[in-house]
Formats: sequence, structure tokens, C-alpha cells
Amino acid sequence: MKNPIRFTAALLLGGACTIATAGMAEWMAPQDPFPLYGNTYYVGTHGISAVLITSPAGHILIDGGPPGASAQIAAHIRALGFKVEDVRYILNGHEHFDHAGGIAALQKMSGAVVLGSPASVAVLKTGQPDKRDAQYPNLTPLAPVANTRAVHDGDVVKLGPLAVTAHFTPGHTPGSTSWTWQSSEGGKTMHMVYADSLTAVAADGRSFSRNPLYRNARADIEHSIATVEGLECDVLVSAHPDFSDLWERKARQSDIKNEAFVDRDACRKYAADARAWLAKTLAKEAQP
Ligand SMILES: [Zn+2]
Repeated sequence: MKNPIRFTAALLLGGACTIATAGMAEWMAPQDPFPLYGNTYYVGTHGISAVLITSPAGHILIDGGPPGASAQIAAHIRALGFKVEDVRYILNGHEHFDHAGGIAALQKMSGAVVLGSPASVAVLKTGQPDKRDAQYPNLTPLAPVANTRAVHDGDVVKLGPLAVTAHFTPGHTPGSTSWTWQSSEGGKTMHMVYADSLTAVAADGRSFSRNPLYRNARADIEHSIATVEGLECDVLVSAHPDFSDLWERKARQSDIKNEAFVDRDACRKYAADARAWLAKTLAKEAQP
């Protein structure tokens, strides 16, 4: 364990990622929107990330927060001087209600096309949680989302000058997807990463590693951790902002502007935390 303090913090915060114990109040805690780098902005709540990538040809929004967060996210987009109606695509990290519950309303407001992996889109379209998911007993249905389209691993979503690449990172859910793009300011270009959740979590009475409905969960998450670890990664936003020290980095923004968010080790640290989490889950599930 490279960084025990950070790891402990992640485990404590793990409550926020374990749907059974997470509090809606924590997810919905208010947060003013702010620039991350160049054309990229944080528009989520304090507890759950949502990112806006802007261009003159329209915008791309990643994730819609919990049900009810859509009004906050829309207000954040407007407060930054952009129009919700100019959001052309909404991308999903994973198909749990804390990240996707607000997408239906945001889709309605914007008319955007909603993109995700096939497993994510299957849940978004119907609103029905995936029975294979180890957290299934704790999942609640979503408002069904209109205008969805599945992408393939490695697909690039293009909009005017924007190009956002899908990296399938399944394991936390079968449909988990991370997204990468580039943003520039002051003559510098950064590799931006929206990393989806990489935590191995099961509901009480379920097993992550021995889930007969999702036998590949462990192999998938190991592969996904390696995928995120290997990304070119200057600015990381994780689906739960607490899991990649976003607020610690933001605290330096008033001094060093958006350079505050640059951490070239961020994806490797995020992967190391996920690997430690997985080891803990496996050890727990190995007990009789
Ligand atoms: Zn989740």
C-alpha cells in the first residue's frame, strides 16, 4: 500500500460509493461550478461529478448526477454562461442512479443524444437496473432516458473541434466507461480523464468475486484498473470527486489557477487505491 492515509480516506469515503449506505444529502450537497482546464468545467454537485466540455459547435456533458440533480447541473451550465440547449451529447460513466438518475431530465432539457456502453444504455433506456450487478438489491430504477445510442470501446465522439474517446472500464458495473479528451489553455494542452468508478462493491448477501450472473467481474475490474493506470492523464476527475482528491486540488486553484488540477500521477494513484480496495474485497469474500 503506497499511501496508507489516502487509502484510509478512500475506504472511509467508500460509504459514498456503496449505494446502500450513501446519503442523498451527501450526493446533492451544493457546489458552485468552476473551470477545470481550458474548455472543460466542473458542473456536478459536491458529491457526484459532472463535467462540461464546451465548444462553439455545442457541448458535451459527462454524467447527470442523482435524480433531482438535473436542476443544479443545468443551473451550473447557465451560471458559466453556456446554454443547456447547446449540449449535444450526454455521456454516461456508469448506470447507477447516483450518476445517471439526472440524465433523463437533462436529455429532455437539451435534446442531446445520450451515449454509453451497450450495458449502460440498456439500463438508461429502460430505467431498470442490471440484474447482473452485485449491488442490484440496493439499486433503484432510473427515469428512462430518450435518444440513447451505444458506443464501442475506443469510439471517438466528435463534435466540431471536440473529440472524446470511450474506454470501457467494466467491473464496478458491467457498463462502466471512462472518457478522455484534450483541453488547452495558455499554449498548454492537457490530457483530461473522466475515470469511472473502479471500486469492487457488492450488496449485503451478494459477492463481487463470486457473482454467478457476472463471472468476469474480477477479471474485468483488474483489466479496467490497468486501463486507467495506463492512460495519458494530466487532469483527472473521477465519478466520485472525493476518490481522486479533487477538493484538495481545488483548494489551490485560487493561488495557481487551473494548474491546481494537474497531477500526472493522479490516474496511477486512483488505480492503486482501486487495486487496494479490490484486495480488501477479495480477502473479505474469501472468508467462509
Ligand atoms: Zn456506482
